[in-house]
Amino acid sequence: MDVSVPIHNAMAHWPGDPAPLIERVLDMNQGKGCNLSRLTLGAHTGTHMDAPLHFIRDGAPLDRLPLDAVVGPARVIAIEDRESVKPQELARHALRPGQRVLFKTANSPRCWETDQFVEDFVFISPEAAEYLAKRRVRTVGVDYLSVGGFKRGGAETHRALLGAGIWLIEGLDLTEVKPGWCDLVCLPLKAVGVEGAPARVILRPRKRGIGRG
Ligand SMILES: [Zn+2]
Repeated sequence: MDVSVPIHNAMAHWPGDPAPLIERVLDMNQGKGCNLSRLTLGAHTGTHMDAPLHFIRDGAPLDRLPLDAVVGPARVIAIEDRESVKPQELARHALRPGQRVLFKTANSPRCWETDQFVEDFVFISPEAAEYLAKRRVRTVGVDYLSVGGFKRGGAETHRALLGAGIWLIEGLDLTEVKPGWCDLVCLPLKAVGVEGAPARVILRPRKRGIGRG
């Protein structure tokens, strides 16, 4: 299943981030020998990853991403809270060190049904971010454009997760995905020295998990 969102000029982006711009700079309809496009994208466009460098001054950039953070078994966890992911709800899920976890919230499909930026998306509370850091999960994925809320502790959430060495996948569309174990493949662009990059992300449902799930 492809859980990446389409990149196009009208898509929602974080307020203040560069708007995506896809342009044909050569066009066969205008007599050129080939079609050729230019993509102008913020590093955090659509489905993308955050590296520690996003909020940690000397943190690792995305080109130092270890592939085992983004390829392997992952848990899709359904979140019931309509406001935010909270430690109390996470405590029910027996998270273990090294797990890759993707949170399916009310954002899928609500936030992806519009090209407008949705301000009141479900986010990871700073307390839940601390909880995930203590549990030493490997990777965290969320189904809207940021792990942190809009004007609601977003920096604290990022710092807690990235400071713990947790790699972040943002902007997943998990509408069609059932909670449980799956195989994750997430491949961000290998841009050097940057704190984020768009990624293609696919999931394949698994019959059996690794460990308790
Ligand atoms: Zn980001």
